[in-house]
Amino acid sequence: MGFSTFYPSLVQHPSPLLKSFRNLLEALNDEELRRLAAKSSGLTRRYFGKTMRMFAPLYLSNECINSCSYCGFSRENAILRVTLELREIAKEALHLSEAGFRDVLLVAGEHPKFISNQYLVRCVRQLVDKFPSICLEVAPLEIPDYRELVLAGAEGISLYQETYHRPTYLQVHQFGPKKDFDWRLDGPERAYSAGFRRLGIGALYGLWDWREEAFALAAHIEYLLRTCWQAQLSVSLPRLRPAAGNFSPPHPISDREFIQLVCALRITFPQIGIVLSTRECSELRDALAPLGVTHMSAGSHTEPGGYTGQGSTHLHRTLRGKSLPVTHTEVSATEQFATSDKRSPAQVSQRLSELGLDTIWKDWDAAIFATT
Ligand code: SF4
Repeated sequence: MGFSTFYPSLVQHPSPLLKSFRNLLEALNDEELRRLAAKSSGLTRRYFGKTMRMFAPLYLSNECINSCSYCGFSRENAILRVTLELREIAKEALHLSEAGFRDVLLVAGEHPKFISNQYLVRCVRQLVDKFPSICLEVAPLEIPDYRELVLAGAEGISLYQETYHRPTYLQVHQFGPKKDFDWRLDGPERAYSAGFRRLGIGALYGLWDWREEAFALAAHIEYLLRTCWQAQLSVSLPRLRPAAGNFSPPHPISDREFIQLVCALRITFPQIGIVLSTRECSELRDALAPLGVTHMSAGSHTEPGGYTGQGSTHLHRTLRGKSLPVTHTEVSATEQFATSDKRSPAQVSQRLSELGLDTIWKDWDAAIFATT
């Protein structure tokens, strides 16, 4: 039994902590929002110091058999697809390593033919010497498959539920294995059982009412803090961005509400990491950096081979699994979504320094285990 079993009753009969979180999501005037932000900022400094942990996504493949309506990689989009080979991944990784990154997030769609567990294991092994921290954002797996990835050297997974509202979930995931709401919801616990020490969860804001989504996410956080207490837990709050397919978010969340959400999460769960990606614009990222965020990406590409042009020689185009022609002018795979903050890692680091924050590129080394 996992969170999927307890989720309905945890939301219907919320704990005192969840009730106070819900109060923090009520509409606020300017002064109230300022007070919330100040409290959030103080707690972040107390728990994390003046630091910002940096990471980079490395897209391995944009093949996918799912039909998520909001995602550029959906099988319903006739996009250019590729799965990087190991030598190509090494070049992408070298680029990220030279930019300073030591914490990498390997991202791939779901396609058993191209993205097998053995492929993922080989990718992790390829990178483990260069990157002390390797996390994965891939399809939810069985415990033995997760364990193989841990043994290969991966230490974290990110598995976002996208939306905690079951009817909306079924509406936006109409085809493919991702249709299984409960299997996904219990994925972080399977990863924990397999030995992963960093767990990332989250929702994709814009699919459902943001307050309801946040409340369900908070219930999940509270549950995982209790059941997976040895792991470091982080949450990500991606907002929908333009992508192939032109999906339009039915429930957009404003910048002001987004800031309130970050602060409410920090105040309720001061110990968790909060991740902010380059989906958000530079101005908003700079505003949120001192308030509650602890992990940031920078200079990101959301297409396989995007950093160094790898994969251009074996691109192909598919629509619902059927091959379509590729023209000779098309030289790179399609991105998952458009990023907004286009600054380089060095520029982001410089700006964070101006805001009084130290960028942390490496906060973990396997040698720590050897000495403890
Ligand atoms: S969100 Fe993930 S599973 Fe869904 S289409 Fe995109 S890559 Fe595939």
